[in-house]
Amino acid sequence: MNIGPALPSERVDMDLQAIVDDIVRELEPRLGEGKVADYIPELARIDPKQFGIAITTVEGQTYKAGDADAAFSIQSISKVFMLTLALGKAGEGVWNRVGREPSGSAFNSIVQLEHEHGIPRNPFINAGAIVVADMVLAGHAPREAIGEYLRFMRYVADDETLSIDEKVAQSEQKTGYRNFALANFMRGFGNLHHPVEHVLGVYFHQCALALSCVQLSHAGLYLAHRGTNPLTGFSVVSPKRARRINALMMMCGHYDGSGDFAFHVGLPGKSGVGGGILAVAPGKASIAVWSPGLNKVGNSALGSVALEMLATKTGWSVFGT
Ligand code: GLU
Repeated sequence: MNIGPALPSERVDMDLQAIVDDIVRELEPRLGEGKVADYIPELARIDPKQFGIAITTVEGQTYKAGDADAAFSIQSISKVFMLTLALGKAGEGVWNRVGREPSGSAFNSIVQLEHEHGIPRNPFINAGAIVVADMVLAGHAPREAIGEYLRFMRYVADDETLSIDEKVAQSEQKTGYRNFALANFMRGFGNLHHPVEHVLGVYFHQCALALSCVQLSHAGLYLAHRGTNPLTGFSVVSPKRARRINALMMMCGHYDGSGDFAFHVGLPGKSGVGGGILAVAPGKASIAVWSPGLNKVGNSALGSVALEMLATKTGWSVFGT
């Protein structure tokens, strides 16, 4: 029976360097699109006309173009790594305090929390990430929990130079009124076990980690390779856990733009208001893009476009080529 032409599912001879170079060239005239996050004063000062992309394959090759070595604030992308830490610490108990459903709401929304008795919809909206930070804080002083996170990030990225931008953390500490509201609300429901100032101290510092696209693509590699970093052989999580984190990224990684991202890109991904996005092509590569201008729902405008171009050029969507 003839079932039509073969699908180009494994384009093994693909020239990934040419692909990232093309993406940078095609996006050049659009540099500066979107609006830089200005509710965190330190982020409002970033030059919006920047764009970087890095792909690290499970075979260990890194392909990069544009501002791929410039460090940026990873912000909410940190939620993926903190969830990984919390699952290691609390196991499936994590799911007693945070859900696994898309929220369909903005990243800092408080509306669902009251109906759902202080149990956030998922670990990737702010409320959920604050609960996850509370779990990582268990048994520690805030400074130790931040230290544990930084050590973990250096381990997964295999890079001892990673550091937290203290100015960004302080900037958010001074102006993060909505996060204080969310945290106090959940404390009122008994879903935060530590003082709000301590939990948010951890949360603001995790968000303020500065990484380049190259470093972020290394850090995310365990999610593309069944829980193990193929560059170092370091085991981070079980294959099943990696698969589940990817599922959450697909459903919840872009706030109320998650459906749109799945529709256009079709890869698990997590965005941050610093303009970065980490995307995972399971079995193939970890991809990081960065451009500070955000679209209406708070995801990098050009970063989202770049990942759509990449998915089209590589056929890497998890939904088929
Ligand atoms: N630190 C940011 C906040 O809580 C993270 C938001 C984001 O990156 O989406 O507002």
